Amino acid sequence: MRKKLMEILCCPLCKGDLELEIDEETEEEIITGKLICEKCDIIYPIEEGIPNMLPPELR
Ligand SMILES: [Zn+2]
Repeated sequence: MRKKLMEILCCPLCKGDLELEIDEETEEEIITGKLICEKCDIIYPIEEGIPNMLPPELR
């Protein structure tokens, strides 16, 4: 995903801000990593450049 996407991404459950943890990245894109909502205590994984924003019970 493009790093700029971070500006518009929010937690689908609480609409709060997400914390980003990058494992693998290029200059403009995040390849693998995690988006973390501390409020909901949920981790949304980023795999092969695609963030999985589904709540855990729908995965
Ligand atoms: Zn949340």
